[in-house]
Amino acid sequence: MVATPIGNLMDMTFRAVDVLKQADLVACEDTRVTGKLLKHFGIKTAMVAYNDHNGAKMRPRILADLGAGKTIALVSDAGTPLISDPGYKLVAACADDGIRVIPIPGASALLAGLVTAALPTDRVLFAGFLPSKQKARQTSLDALAHVDATIVFYETGPRLASTLADMLDRFGPRPTAVARELTKLYEDVKRGTLEELSAQYGDEPAAKGEMVVVVGPPLAASAMTARDIDAALQDVLKTMSVRDAAAAIAETTGQPRRALYARALELKASDADDT
Ligand code: SAM
Repeated sequence: MVATPIGNLMDMTFRAVDVLKQADLVACEDTRVTGKLLKHFGIKTAMVAYNDHNGAKMRPRILADLGAGKTIALVSDAGTPLISDPGYKLVAACADDGIRVIPIPGASALLAGLVTAALPTDRVLFAGFLPSKQKARQTSLDALAHVDATIVFYETGPRLASTLADMLDRFGPRPTAVARELTKLYEDVKRGTLEELSAQYGDEPAAKGEMVVVVGPPLAASAMTARDIDAALQDVLKTMSVRDAAAAIAETTGQPRRALYARALELKASDADDT
C-alpha cells in the first residue's frame, strides 16, 4: 500500500520510488494519472487498473498473482490508498489468504489537513466524505454531533458552503478549519467558527480545488451535563423566545442549535403543564 503525493511531487518518499520500481506490477485507480507519476520518477513497472468499477473482477486476478509470489504495489490517484480510496477489500482479501500487506506511508490529506487546522489532535475521528444528498448528510452529522473528538471530513468545492451551513445547524458554532489545495501552489487554510466560515463561504462563489474540513470537538460537551444544559436553557427561557434561547445557549456551549431548540420546546411545554 504505497502513498503518493497529494499535489507536490517532492512529497514522494524514497521508499515509495524504490518499492514501485521493484514491484512486479503497480495496481492503480487510473493508469493515466499514475502513468504521469511513474514517468516523473523514471519508474518503468507495468500498471494495471484497480478501482471501484473493476475491483470485484480484478481482485481474484491480483490475489492469484500475489499467491504465485509476485509483489504488487497498490497506489491511488493521490495520497494514501484506502483512505476514501479503493483498497480495503483487497487488503481484507490478502489478510484472509495470509498474504503480507506492507504499508509504505507518505502523504495523506487527512493528516496534512489535521496538522494545519490548529485544533486538538489527541482524539480524532476521520469521517471521509459526507453523503451528497442533504437529508442523508444531516443524518450523518447528527450521528457525529456528540463525538468528543476533532472530526476530519473530505469535501468538494461545490458542496462546501452547504456542508458548512449544515454543520453549523447540527454542531453549533465550533472552531473549524477549511484547508484547501494542501502542498500545492494555492495552499490556503482558513480558520474560524463554523458560523464565520459558513458565512464566508456562503457569500463567495464555490471554493475551488481540493479541500479538507476539520471541525473541533464540542466546546463544553464534556464539562456540561444534560442537567446543566437544561438549567441554562430554563434560565434564558424566562426572558427569550425558544428560538433565541436555543441560539444563545448554542453560542455559549457549542451544542447544536437544533437539538437545543427541540429541548427548549420540551422544557417550555413541561413548564406550561406545571402551571
Ligand atoms: N486517499 C487520499 C488521501 O490520502 O489524501 C484521499 C482521496 S479522496 C478521493 C480525495 C479527497 O481528499 C479530496 O476531495 C479532498 O477532500 C482531499 N484532498 C486530496 N488532496 C488534497 C489536497 N491537496 N488538499 C486538500 N484536500 C485534499
